[in-house]
Amino acid sequence: MEIILRKDAKKLGLTYYFTGKPCMHGHIEKRQTSNGGCLLCIGEYVKRHPVERKESVKKWDRSNRDKAREKLKRWRSNNKEKALLLSKIWKQKNPDKIQANIRRRRAIRLGCKGRHFIADVRRLEINQNMRCYWCGNKLTKYHIDHIIPLSISKDDSPANICLSCRECNQSKDVNLPQEWSGADHKNGTIRLL
Ligand SMILES: [Zn+2]
Ligand SMILES: [Zn+2]
Repeated sequence: MEIILRKDAKKLGLTYYFTGKPCMHGHIEKRQTSNGGCLLCIGEYVKRHPVERKESVKKWDRSNRDKAREKLKRWRSNNKEKALLLSKIWKQKNPDKIQANIRRRRAIRLGCKGRHFIADVRRLEINQNMRCYWCGNKLTKYHIDHIIPLSISKDDSPANICLSCRECNQSKDVNLPQEWSGADHKNGTIRLL
């Protein structure tokens, strides 16, 4: 291993450097340029404190968003198969986040103001008691429906969203609530398109 001083490693933008000298625990190991930590010591710390380590990584990512994004990009291109597998697993575990992303992109495309988050949807689940906003039927799955259609209101804020059943959402479509005769579905006969 080539011997290089920390300050030179810093100048070269290297993540690690190597002095050939033992750390305070006697390891002759690579050191991390950012904090001078010995990799073996860090590894042992991580093993002993997995939760703290995760938190500290998260904290770093939050305050170094651009660098974190770059780091992730680099890791992904070096670990293509693993990255693909992890993204597949993440997608399976987070269908609501994927839907939220799709909705968010549409809202941006339409030039909407306001924004809702998954926490707002969770709040609606409680407030609406898991019943359709329009017909009151019990919901197991739901659509996130814009009360005044997004194409008209350009409002993606929590005030303009509700949870609705598929039938109500699809039959209301791009109409204003007052233009839509959802009544027949409300009375229990489900109106299909
Ligand atoms: Zn060490
Ligand atoms: Zn409904």
